[in-house]
Amino acid sequence: MNISFLEKDLEELKASGLYRSLKEVGSSQSREIILNGKRVLNFCSNNYLGLADDERIKQAAIKSIQEDGFGSGASRLVCGTMRAHTKLEEKLAHFKKTQAALLFSSGYMANTGIISALVGREDVVFSDKLNHASIVDGIILSRAKFFRYAHNDMQSLERALKGAGNFKKRLIVTDTVFSMDGDRANLPEIVHLARRYEAMVMVDEAHAFGVLGENGSGLVEQEGLGGKIDVQMGTFSKAAGCFGAYVCGSKILCEYLINHSRSFIYTTALPPSLASAASVAIDIIEQDKLRRQKVLDNAQYLRDGLKRKGFDTLESTTPIIPIVFKTPQKALEASQYLFQQGIFVQAIRPPTVPVNTARLRVTVMATHTREDLDLFLDRICRI
Ligand code: PMP
Repeated sequence: MNISFLEKDLEELKASGLYRSLKEVGSSQSREIILNGKRVLNFCSNNYLGLADDERIKQAAIKSIQEDGFGSGASRLVCGTMRAHTKLEEKLAHFKKTQAALLFSSGYMANTGIISALVGREDVVFSDKLNHASIVDGIILSRAKFFRYAHNDMQSLERALKGAGNFKKRLIVTDTVFSMDGDRANLPEIVHLARRYEAMVMVDEAHAFGVLGENGSGLVEQEGLGGKIDVQMGTFSKAAGCFGAYVCGSKILCEYLINHSRSFIYTTALPPSLASAASVAIDIIEQDKLRRQKVLDNAQYLRDGLKRKGFDTLESTTPIIPIVFKTPQKALEASQYLFQQGIFVQAIRPPTVPVNTARLRVTVMATHTREDLDLFLDRICRI
């Protein structure tokens, strides 16, 4: 078959400002990175606490490699379950105050594997319109009936629950912090509606883990809803500065997923060094409250500055701060201008965000200084 459609597609993407390409970072992930040979301030990583190149985490990984080796050799169910995995699962369950925890190799795999194991053809899923793509893919994979309710709109969710008709199981699924808008889900109301309409609740804490809550375990902790959420998923790839993901919940839930979740069963276990590094990251998150407070304070400072200067930051209340532009091209131009000025922030365009909401997705780190934030505010105003 002639595959000239590939080239045509790419040309079309370029013409509409939606073409994507990779940029190589020539340094570790830090507050400053080297990009295309240029040293720039990084305002777009999910490394909220600056742990991605933290010495304690690096040393934990190195020690684990020396003691446990590098590869895990097989899937968890064959012979890949190592001490580092079980230790991390025990630590997580304690941290999240749940009966049990189970590791997945990435957040993407957790969402696709959990949802497709919990629901099937005879079931229904209610999903916030702005949920992460991995949740959407999990629902598609499950073949369940799929209702998308308007973003954070509890009336829209209730209408969908009311009108859904007869299904065997119902699942409401939501990000707790929305990855592109930086706002928070209305968890108390979601839990309330779930009780009323007999639905299970699953949350994705990817951007809340390590950032929100008294001990830093996420929005569920902050809202005091631990016992009322059936499935708590999250990742180590963001504030924890590592890689991999987890689900926390009842012992039965984890046992069920071990037996039914295909992305858990049919993949090689995480290298033990990643699990060891994530264990140390949890210790740091729990103990270093100042670091967690710093990222929230920095975000508040930047958001206030942007608002004062008339920028639209939507409903952000977290270290993810969107700055919305009218077109993808405008967002790209803004990103390119800031790069010339020594600031790296990616333009995020459809289909990652809805049409007409292309944006700079600014993310703030605990390691940014006031000078960094003031420089950002000064330069963004020159656009
Ligand atoms: N859920 C959300 C809300 C995310 O933002 C992401 C990553 N962008 C994921 C899941 C996937 O996590 P991972 O990168 O660990 O695959």
